[in-house]
Amino acid sequence: MKRHILIGGLAACSLLACATNPVTGDRQLNFMSEAQEIQLGRESDPQLRAEMGVYPDQALQRYVESVGMRLAKSSERPDLPWQFAVVDVAAANAFAVPGGFIYITRGLLAHLDTEAELAGVLGHEIGHVTARHSAAAYTRSTMATVGMLLTSLFAPKAKPYMGAVEAGLSIALLKYDRTQELQADRLGAGYAAKVGWAPSGMSGVLETLGRISAASDSRGLPNWLSTHPQPADRLTKLAETVRALESARPSSEWEVNREAYWRHLDGLLYGDNPREGFLRGREFVHPDMRFTVTFPDGWRVQNGRQQVTSAPPGIDGVVILLQVVQNPQGASLERVAAAWMSQTGFQKVSGESVRLGGGVPAYHGVYSGQTENGAAVGVEAAHISHAGRVFLLAGVASQARFAQVQPHFARTIRSYSPANEAEMARVKPNRIAFATVASGDTWQSIAQRTGGLVPAGELAIVNGHAPDSRPPVGRRIKTVTQGS
Ligand SMILES: [Zn+2]
Repeated sequence: MKRHILIGGLAACSLLACATNPVTGDRQLNFMSEAQEIQLGRESDPQLRAEMGVYPDQALQRYVESVGMRLAKSSERPDLPWQFAVVDVAAANAFAVPGGFIYITRGLLAHLDTEAELAGVLGHEIGHVTARHSAAAYTRSTMATVGMLLTSLFAPKAKPYMGAVEAGLSIALLKYDRTQELQADRLGAGYAAKVGWAPSGMSGVLETLGRISAASDSRGLPNWLSTHPQPADRLTKLAETVRALESARPSSEWEVNREAYWRHLDGLLYGDNPREGFLRGREFVHPDMRFTVTFPDGWRVQNGRQQVTSAPPGIDGVVILLQVVQNPQGASLERVAAAWMSQTGFQKVSGESVRLGGGVPAYHGVYSGQTENGAAVGVEAAHISHAGRVFLLAGVASQARFAQVQPHFARTIRSYSPANEAEMARVKPNRIAFATVASGDTWQSIAQRTGGLVPAGELAIVNGHAPDSRPPVGRRIKTVTQGS
């Protein structure tokens, strides 16, 4: 209740007042000073880039940055240290961090149709920054993360494990409310129009988001979709703004730049990149790092960029994690393990050198330690030397649960083995390619020609069409191919 009253206060102050005189705004909103915003952005940015990965295509990065910078310079806060990055994430999403740090996923880029739509998305995120939504949301989310599973298990001595996860969690939790989303939609369309991009690009984005939303189950939706209002509602609310903006010049003068945009989509990675790990039943396979691990039956597995985690659903305080040990210190695995575990605040209970599957050498130990708030935790960990790296595969649980889950930890560690090289060489990611719709084609027939790489409905949505529509004959469309 209280929160809604506060947000009402935010909407009531004009954008200009909020943007240029934040400190004179409603102090109850806990706005940061501009310097604090920038500092927070600069601190979060490297963590976010590390956790999500920056998409390795310089030309695409420069293109998105150039579109973003033109919009940002036309905003009320042109002098923020604006930065735009395409992150290597398959889900369709975009978000902003205070201070002017904007991220768009390759998954969302694949779903957009024109440069005007890209301008709509970036303009929307710029709007969250200029109107200081992101600063307010960040304050709330920082509080919300306190007590979350991973941070509470290992803080603060165990920073080597958790820093990036913490940042990832707080960003995942950034939630705007209805008023803020609608305001960002309006601002985004406005910035785009000011530069000359068709303000209807924002409407196209919302239509596509509505289709993605309708085709997904509600769990795990990215923040562009999971917040209310629903995309269809946002579209209705935005229509008047778009009409007003469009009346400023003849329709032929608005820039859409579809072809320029599509040139940058050619060969774009599409979907999860299996080279970076995939699940085959309970088995997690990592082609680039050449290993497989079998996690316990029924446990959820999350493949983060820096860490794979597995946890039993509905049970707090238990997790198995797998990651690379950076700069391993010591001449033997036993020394490496001793250095790493003591650095993270754990004492050895027992340990021995072992051979895992395929003869891979490891140091397998049991450790005890404490969380920041004094709770006792047990760790069963293997430091594994394989394929030129040292991996840490560790089960962590509160002492109260440790004995109960230890057999799962031990089995998971023993399941580690080298992947089949020949098989791994055949694993390739999917990429965006183009095709022309022939007479008689359906989304189904086009999808079939990809060899089942993409479902028909998804293919329609990626092309900005409803799944039950007919593909437009003679038109160039996006399709999916298995690339290198
Ligand atoms: Zn938003």
